[in-house]
Amino acid sequence: MDPYPKPLRHLIKELKRLPGIGEKTATRLALYILGDKRGLKEGLAAALEGIKQIQLCPECFNLTDQVRCTICTNPSRDASIICVIEEPSDILALESANEFKGLYHVLHGLISPINGIGPYDIKLQELLQRMRPTVKEIVVALSPSVEGDITAQYIHKMICDAGLRMCISRLASGIPVGGELKYLDQVTIASAIRYRRTVMEPG
Ligand SMILES: [Zn+2]
Repeated sequence: MDPYPKPLRHLIKELKRLPGIGEKTATRLALYILGDKRGLKEGLAAALEGIKQIQLCPECFNLTDQVRCTICTNPSRDASIICVIEEPSDILALESANEFKGLYHVLHGLISPINGIGPYDIKLQELLQRMRPTVKEIVVALSPSVEGDITAQYIHKMICDAGLRMCISRLASGIPVGGELKYLDQVTIASAIRYRRTVMEPG
């Protein structure tokens, strides 16, 4: 005989579906929510109801609860430059640096032959459709991994094949601010050398 009432068992079952949450943690959380007297149940219920309104921006595929996202609808953003990223959370990271003023394009994944993810499984064709003559530069801000490199190469080829003329750049990778050369791994040093920049031209 189950000592817990059905609704509590239901909550435990749903919490267990979250990543990294097992039976014990789910039970502990469910009992905590049940016992809370400070409006946690109502707060959680309202928050969960609210996120049902969230959808993908049809332009850039960022998350939004409006027709289009806050970045695409901001007239002060520079529409001539589009930064390509893997996940919506990358926008938060880039925005916190307060340096990039263009628009974004969220791929929702990377090409990964080993996992059976091809170019048509992520938002690459949608990126091509956004390539109006007003777009002057694509910044590929994908992680420096095998999948990131394959996806970056595909974007390059896709734009060349379409006969589009624009600048394609990738985020610089290498030595972090405050990083000491002797403590860095070989991959980081190799990348820093490969993507070095000129600071003085001859003459
Ligand atoms: Zn958008």
